[in-house]
Amino acid sequence: MRFIEKISSIGRSGCITDFPKPWSTEQFKTPTMLIYARAGSVPHLTYNSLQRLDDKKLLFLQTLPTVVEFKDAVELQGKGLGAFAGLPEYPFHLSIQDPADETPTGYNVNKGVSVWCTGGKKMISVSEFMKIIKAFQPVSYQALCDSDTPKDCSKKRLNKSVDNTIKFLDECLEEHSQCEEVKNVAIWGTIEGGYDSFLRKKSAEATVKRAVDGFVIDGFHTNGATLESLNFSKVKPLLKEVIDILPANKPRLLNGPLDAEMMIEAIKMGVDIFDSSHAFKLAEDGDATVFPLESIPHHFEKDSNDIATKRFKCTPELSLKEEMYKDDLTPILSTCTCYTCKHYTRAYIHHLLDTTELLAQILLMIHNLHHYSEFFKTIRHVLGN
Ligand SMILES: [Zn+2]
Repeated sequence: MRFIEKISSIGRSGCITDFPKPWSTEQFKTPTMLIYARAGSVPHLTYNSLQRLDDKKLLFLQTLPTVVEFKDAVELQGKGLGAFAGLPEYPFHLSIQDPADETPTGYNVNKGVSVWCTGGKKMISVSEFMKIIKAFQPVSYQALCDSDTPKDCSKKRLNKSVDNTIKFLDECLEEHSQCEEVKNVAIWGTIEGGYDSFLRKKSAEATVKRAVDGFVIDGFHTNGATLESLNFSKVKPLLKEVIDILPANKPRLLNGPLDAEMMIEAIKMGVDIFDSSHAFKLAEDGDATVFPLESIPHHFEKDSNDIATKRFKCTPELSLKEEMYKDDLTPILSTCTCYTCKHYTRAYIHHLLDTTELLAQILLMIHNLHHYSEFFKTIRHVLGN
């Protein structure tokens, strides 16, 4: 995998190329989002409903806790996780934890990392993890890491997380270098350190010395509902310190259901890749994203941040469960060109939510993913990419 940085007067964007076969000719422009998947597929969307998305070129995010139990079957079939899940045409990146679900804390040890799947806790060692990588055949993966650092955790725990993550990375790199099957697969190092500036720098400086293809900046939250109390103004100075250490020619990934405003702030600081778990979580709650795309250029102008931020805060999403949408015969967003907005009204989706029909989440996922896709397209346009 190769990352080409593009710098304009507005900021950083880029392009990811050189994926393993059969995606060797694919290119993904950044900033972008990975399409959040669980148990192999995009939640609520079948193969056919995925075709309803305007964007056909998707890079998935598969999450270890939701797929680890498939390992033996995938290995037996021998065609990788994508083929096993009936989605062989979509390349994917594998993350260690599930950004949409809160990770239970206090279960990592020096020998491995705990992931929580339907059968309960599963301890993953480096050797087990590398067997999973060989069987699943991702285009890139996050090396095993210990990101179990809730915001109030002790310095001792933070230190342990940094040390364990480097140790796991070295062990993964060792096995990676000796394995012909993963030769062209990208491996990402993870930067830990919670809210401790010294440990953040220690983790970043150690990770950049390793032969990694990209960087995941983790450990500001423990996924899922913990994002609701995330204070992004406390994340920003640490993010800056980390990014100042990272080389420009490798991509940076920030996982988790971050809202659009946080993503813009992170992009302005040099983060390249996010995931769509926020779009999924909103759909689960019956919410549709409607933040104004036309205000995005203002976020990138000097001195206009306050006005742009206010506009975003004013209408980030619609909660279609509310009674006020019962007779609303307009689409979710009149300017939206997605399949849902072209064919359905707010009143109909309200009715589907009211009667707990599964179609509600399907339609909301199609809209939310489309809206986020347009969000990233607009940002890339602003950045001249
Ligand atoms: Zn729409």
